[in-house]
Amino acid sequence: MAKNAEKDNLVGIRDSVRGCLVGIAVGDALGMPSEGMTRQDILKNFGRIIGFCDSQSRFSRGLAKGQWTDDTKLTIATVGGLIESVKSNAFGNLYVVGLAMFVNYIQALEEHQKRGFGKTTRESLTARMEGNNPFDGRFPTRPGNGCAMKSAILGIFSDLGALFNKDFGEYDEEELVIMVSMLTHNDSRSVVGAMLQAHIAGLFLFGWDLRNEDNFSWIYEQAKYYEDLVIKIPYVKDGTPKISEILAKIPPLLGATDELIADVLKTGGAVYESFPTALAYAIKYQDDFRSAVLAGANAGGDTDTIAAMTGALVGTRVGLSGIPDEWKRELEDYENIVSLADKLVDAVRDLPDGE
Ligand SMILES: [Mg+2]
Repeated sequence: MAKNAEKDNLVGIRDSVRGCLVGIAVGDALGMPSEGMTRQDILKNFGRIIGFCDSQSRFSRGLAKGQWTDDTKLTIATVGGLIESVKSNAFGNLYVVGLAMFVNYIQALEEHQKRGFGKTTRESLTARMEGNNPFDGRFPTRPGNGCAMKSAILGIFSDLGALFNKDFGEYDEEELVIMVSMLTHNDSRSVVGAMLQAHIAGLFLFGWDLRNEDNFSWIYEQAKYYEDLVIKIPYVKDGTPKISEILAKIPPLLGATDELIADVLKTGGAVYESFPTALAYAIKYQDDFRSAVLAGANAGGDTDTIAAMTGALVGTRVGLSGIPDEWKRELEDYENIVSLADKLVDAVRDLPDGE
C-alpha cells in the first residue's frame, strides 16, 4: 500500500517534525515523576497527573517539573547522529551513521548519569566502548523498549527523503533502524518494536488515520513482516508472545478505558509490555495530544517511556501546533528541541535531488 501524502507543504512538515520531538520530550517529562510506580501509587502521590510535576520516582530522583529523561536525551543524540551523517556526506554508509550515533550515545550517557538510562542501554554501550567495537552484537540480550523509545525520528527521517525527493543512495529505512537498535539491544523483539515505532511515525507524518481498520491491519501485517525480517537476531525464549500477537488485541480495546488498556496490554519495561500500550493510546487519541500523553503518564509502570512513545506518534500527527502551550512553556530545553527538528528538516532539504 502506498503512503498517501497529504502533508506536502514545508510548513506542515516542519510542524510535524517539531511535534514529534517536542511530543517525545513532553510525554517523557509528564511520565518522569511516576516512572516505576503502580497506578495506585500514582493516585496516592499525585491524584491524577494532569501536568508536569517534580520527580517522586527512584529512577529520576532530583529532576524537577518539565525535565525529561533518557528517552529524550537518546532521541536528541539520534537526531544529532542523523544530521552529522547527512552533513558530512557519509549518509548511505550505515557504519559511518552507526558510529556517529554511538559516539553521541556514549556522550549522552556520560552527561546524564541521573536520567534513568535503562540497564541494557548502559551495559551494552559500556561493553562496546571497552571492547572498541560499537557493532559487537554479543552484549545483553533483553527485550527492553530502549530502541522503540528513540526510533520515531528514524522513520520520519526516511520519509522526509521521500517527501523532498532526495537521493538517499543505498540507504534503507529498515536497515537503518535495525543497525541503530543493535547498538544497544541484541533482541529481535526490541528491534521489531523500534521498526514499528519508526514506521508508524511515518504513517502519521503522512496523515494516516489509524482508527480505520484497514490501516490498522496494515500495521499488523508490517509487524509480521518485520518479525520475519529479523529472524536471525536472537531473543530470550521466555514464552512471551510476539509483538504482532499482542497488537492483534488493540482494535477491540480502542473503546475501552485507559486503565483497561493498561491492564490488558501491560506497562512494563519490556518492549512487548509497553510499546503496544503506547500505540493503543496513540490510536485511541490520535487527534488529542493531551489525552494521549496523560493516558501514558497515568498508566503505571514505565510511564515516561510509554508517554514518550505515544507523544512521538501523536505529536507527529497533530504537529507542534497541536501540543498545549503551557507544556511548551515549561518544557526543559524547548527552544533547542524545536531548532533541532528544523535542522534535521533543513539537512535533508540540502541533499541532492533524487532521480
Ligand atoms: Mg526514561
